[in-house]
Amino acid sequence: MKILEVSNVNKRFGGLQALDDVNLTVEQGHVHAIIGPNGAGKSTLLNCFVGRLMPDTGSVIFDGTSLLGLAPHEINQTGVSRVFQTPEIFEDLSLLDNLMIPALAKRDGAFTLNAWGRVDQDAEIRDQAEHMLEDVGLQDKRHLQSGTMSRGDKRRLELAMCLVQNPKLLLLDEPTAGMSRADTNNTIDLLKKIGERGITKVIIEHDMHVVFSLANRVSVLAQGHVIAEGTPEEMKEDQRVKDAYLGAGHE
Ligand code: ADP
Ligand code: MG
Repeated sequence: MKILEVSNVNKRFGGLQALDDVNLTVEQGHVHAIIGPNGAGKSTLLNCFVGRLMPDTGSVIFDGTSLLGLAPHEINQTGVSRVFQTPEIFEDLSLLDNLMIPALAKRDGAFTLNAWGRVDQDAEIRDQAEHMLEDVGLQDKRHLQSGTMSRGDKRRLELAMCLVQNPKLLLLDEPTAGMSRADTNNTIDLLKKIGERGITKVIIEHDMHVVFSLANRVSVLAQGHVIAEGTPEEMKEDQRVKDAYLGAGHE
């Protein structure tokens, strides 16, 4: 079953055609990687899925619902969660509070902070948050102020903030960017573990080791265009893909 159908999406920034008639379908339960040189339009495409950008033309259908024109929180309510290219966590709050916020937002459509700047306590939500911290191996740090953690742990926390919402579709924009090899491998393991829950994932990634470890399908974007699609093995051998990376000055 197709869970995400992207048809004829165009997006122009002034004189730049950032997305040029993009078509993409993602099968439920798959890990679908989007790769391509810097500036290809990968983040722009993801921004069109989550309501941060409105395409000029085209459609984005998720699980039978058109996402275009919906606000980010409305898209989130349909079951789409996203990990950003740089971690977006609440640095002043504890890990536990960081997890309770998205859990509350998903359940109630909103959250409030009390007079002490803390998340209002709610037994059910707290339980959910505690379990999630265990799942990602951060339970020992749950009362730490999040801003004091390593970059790898911040990314792990951000992933947990998405997962605590029980998404049907998880969007990841370069989840291993700037990570050490060890942190990258931890992230791969974590994403594999999540895979067992059947969450569909769209992952933008420049690290081919990550793509080969996780993806079933790969779409290659270059200059706003999907130039090739197939299995990771097929894409590795595809001359169009090699040319696109060479043309962009990559190895
Ligand atoms: P990628 O994620 O594949 O590296 P992006 O989607 O970030 O590429 O960018 C695609 C192109 O669109 C780049 O040339 C970038 O400079 C341009 N671009 C991205 N966002 C904007 C914006 N908000 N305004 C103008 N140009 C933008
Ligand atoms: Mg990008």
